[in-house]
Amino acid sequence: MSTDQKTQSQQILFTRGVPPAEALPAEDLGECFDSVVRNDTSVVLQYGQQRGYAPLRKQLAEEYGVSDDEVLVGNGSLQLQDLLSKHLVNEEDAVFTEQPSYDRSILTFRRNGARVTGIPLEEDGIDVERLERALEREVPAFLYLVPDFQNPTGATLSLEKRRRVVELAERYGFYILEDIPYRKLRYRGEDLPLLRELDSAGRVITVSSFSKLLSPGMRVGFMIGSKGLIDDLTGLAENTYLAPVLPTQAAVSEYIGRGMLAPNVESLKELYRPRWEAMTSSVKQELPGATMFTSNGGFFVGVMLPEDANTQNLVGRAKEQGLVLTPGESFFADSDDGEPPRGERFVRLPFCAVTTDQIEEGVSRLAGLV
Ligand code: PMP
Repeated sequence: MSTDQKTQSQQILFTRGVPPAEALPAEDLGECFDSVVRNDTSVVLQYGQQRGYAPLRKQLAEEYGVSDDEVLVGNGSLQLQDLLSKHLVNEEDAVFTEQPSYDRSILTFRRNGARVTGIPLEEDGIDVERLERALEREVPAFLYLVPDFQNPTGATLSLEKRRRVVELAERYGFYILEDIPYRKLRYRGEDLPLLRELDSAGRVITVSSFSKLLSPGMRVGFMIGSKGLIDDLTGLAENTYLAPVLPTQAAVSEYIGRGMLAPNVESLKELYRPRWEAMTSSVKQELPGATMFTSNGGFFVGVMLPEDANTQNLVGRAKEQGLVLTPGESFFADSDDGEPPRGERFVRLPFCAVTTDQIEEGVSRLAGLV
């Protein structure tokens, strides 16, 4: 076998946005587990604490400047999105998302009866004019946004647009669900305010997760909203899973309490930054005709291939070359203008769980296919 054939035969996974094995702090988390199971046995090994492990809720409440009863900690953030959709969406209600958006959220909203409409995403976040036009036609149950380093594109919502979107939510009376699991993984630039920090009318619900900062297997996610909303969702949660998984929530709380989270995030950024740089520069070099969303953090870079790119069976042809891609279409909801969504031209490129060599090789294989 020639060197070329060997390289081709090594599969490169540009599919799931998961942390690589070397990013999981096994030793430290193990110690935290051990400590909470031994020292807080009657709480963490028992049913109860339906709103989530109380010390963790308190830590989160302090971080976000809210009261404890505005925080619900559950089994991963996607399940909280599911509970929220059950609560807010009546059959056939609209939910608006960015277009493209996180595929599993689109599916979750649809499963709860929503008609999901995607509003085009620009370099600096959702197209606010298009959003306003859509709002003149109908007001959604909520608008779902991933404002920082969006999944699947990496794009970040600008400050100006954050203000305008919050104003629209207040004027038209809909909720914004801001989903921020990647926010702390910034490789360049300065943080922008949370949407909830710009909101004075209680229109913003925040959801996030420890999946990308610590471990997805822990299944610890949280939601912040008004006390009334959190009360309602807690009732739904109790009827769904009885009680949350307290040992993992307690381990996360212990990990935070020992001051380990911030250094862990710093070491993740050190691990991911060169991968992010490799992905960004490989795309610029290998796919000059494509439009790349500017990503300053997170797990993904998204590209829109040129109009004349060969996208016919791209996922199948890539697989034959040992390159595994997620079909672009899965990130697209129904269009706001009735036109068919152009998902076949979109490619999501996750960079955290691949080495810089795999990134360069993978992007070059992709370029050879389109
Ligand atoms: N929201 C976004 C934008 C995500 O990318 C993910 C995970 N890929 C989730 C939510 C779900 O995360 P969790 O593990 O907390 O359910």
